[in-house]
Amino acid sequence: MSTTENPDLVDTAVQPPVRETAGGRRATGTLFADGPATLRADSVSAWFGDHKVLDRVSLTMPAREVTALIGPSGCGKSTFLRILNRMHELIGTASLAGRVLLDEEDIYDRGRRITHARRQIGMVFQKPNPFPAMSIYDNVLAGLKLNAIKATRDGKDDLVEECLTKAGLWKEVRDRLRQPGGALSGGQQQRLCIARSLAVRPRVLLMDEPCSALDPTSTRRIEETIAELKSEVTIVIVTHNMQQAARVSDTCAFFLASHGTPGVIVEHGDTDAMFNAPRDERTSDYVNGRFG
Ligand code: ADP
Ligand code: MG
Repeated sequence: MSTTENPDLVDTAVQPPVRETAGGRRATGTLFADGPATLRADSVSAWFGDHKVLDRVSLTMPAREVTALIGPSGCGKSTFLRILNRMHELIGTASLAGRVLLDEEDIYDRGRRITHARRQIGMVFQKPNPFPAMSIYDNVLAGLKLNAIKATRDGKDDLVEECLTKAGLWKEVRDRLRQPGGALSGGQQQRLCIARSLAVRPRVLLMDEPCSALDPTSTRRIEETIAELKSEVTIVIVTHNMQQAARVSDTCAFFLASHGTPGVIVEHGDTDAMFNAPRDERTSDYVNGRFG
């Protein structure tokens, strides 16, 4: 799929504003004060108009683990990811059924604000999308501004350093924080986007093919970053790269939409088992590159 027709690439540089200051936490101090959460999809279905694209998908994405979502194009992986942080409902024709539980609290509960879910469940997209003319420093803090989170000057400096360190970029940019984000390489830009996501202290980070626009070296760097982050934020990553799924994930879910039917999870479980001893023949075919 070309990037121009990919709905993932809608120009959502950072997610829409979050106005409350979740739990009154300040922008300074320890990152990830609440720590990683377990995210659980319970019988999630999705439609665009009359077109049903996901059918009763249930999946637990455990805290402190990396869950990889794999499967051919068009089987609903990006749609599923957008449902996990309430971005799906931004699309005019979109509807859904089912529940999404963040540490057993329903993010779609009528009493809950959409902004609360977005703040706790961040997203990194396929194409790195920093604000190109904005400095590296300000890019990291961009989400704070949008979320109306106040921080002192020292607090900001600490937060920028901490997030860039977590994203594996600090050493490369520490001497040029005032240079524009757009001057970085593609792989660095993607790590800058990860740093920007981390700055609002998400409990879950969703990543939709975060390396598919990157070269192999940058890809490995992002994979290292994921491995370092997983103790602090639950990670759910969509990838078409089977080696990547095998390298970075603890558990894996294989999505399939056969012959125009809505996407379902054919099999999910421990990544090693999925790759070395899949239970379903379709999983075996897919992970061994026989289709998709
Ligand atoms: P994947 O990420 O696995 O490639 P998607 O979630 O992008 O799959 O797409 C699942 C299905 O939903 C596809 O049939 C796709 O054409 C359709 N779809 C995705 N986004 C939209 C949209 N904004 N409007 C209408 N249909 C869409
Ligand atoms: Mg997709």
